[in-house]
Amino acid sequence: MKAEIIAVGSELLTPDRLDTNSLFLTEELNGIGIEVVRKTVVGDNRDLLAEAFRDALQRVPLIIASGGLGPTDDDLTRETVADLLGRKLRHNEEILRHIEGRFRSMGRDMPAVNARQAMVPEGAEILENPRGSAPGLWLEDAGRFIALLPGPPRELKPMYQEQILPRLQRRSSSIRMFHRELRVAGMGESSVEQRIKPIYTRYGDVNTTILSDPFAGVD
Ligand code: ATP
Repeated sequence: MKAEIIAVGSELLTPDRLDTNSLFLTEELNGIGIEVVRKTVVGDNRDLLAEAFRDALQRVPLIIASGGLGPTDDDLTRETVADLLGRKLRHNEEILRHIEGRFRSMGRDMPAVNARQAMVPEGAEILENPRGSAPGLWLEDAGRFIALLPGPPRELKPMYQEQILPRLQRRSSSIRMFHRELRVAGMGESSVEQRIKPIYTRYGDVNTTILSDPFAGVD
């Protein structure tokens, strides 16, 4: 199966924040034989977000998105995906009680805006989030799977492992992907391409890429 990852959040387009969720997700997906063919980082913009999901839905059967599930106006993932799939958002009382409970345990009242996080697209499965307020969502649509996960890595990682991985394992094949890094010294990139690459590509379904030493020439 092929997959795309969409990392949502304008902060990921600044020099200050890095999309590390997709590194984690890629390693996990590769481990069950799912190839990640594209990653997109998109800001909190309704049109750009819709375009990213619309395009990905046309290309691959699995999309995993992170971020944009928060309570504020710039958290648009839930609405955008519901819109694209033609699903209505419905209020879920259980999620609302969970969010209210989290605020109460911190000695605070839930701000009214957080009720947004209790909106669920019709037909979506809810992925519980004991470590945060926004639940994740799992949607199936015309043979495609879409997982919407919260942005904070400490919420996303366990949610993937506990709730997404079992769903994908049921559907993935017995194919596995492995990654090996060979370190070659004393040869230029073109020599490596001519002499070493053919040894590996003769084994069939092997992708290779030649990277130069990032520290070469650095004082
Ligand atoms: P929240 O309910 O916390 O608002 P959310 O799903 O809306 O969750 P965001 O607001 O988009 O998530 O991101 C919350 C934080 O998670 C960001 O400040 C950032 O630190 C982290 N984060 C978001 N996306 C990523 C990513 N792709 N890689 C690493 N960290 C991320």
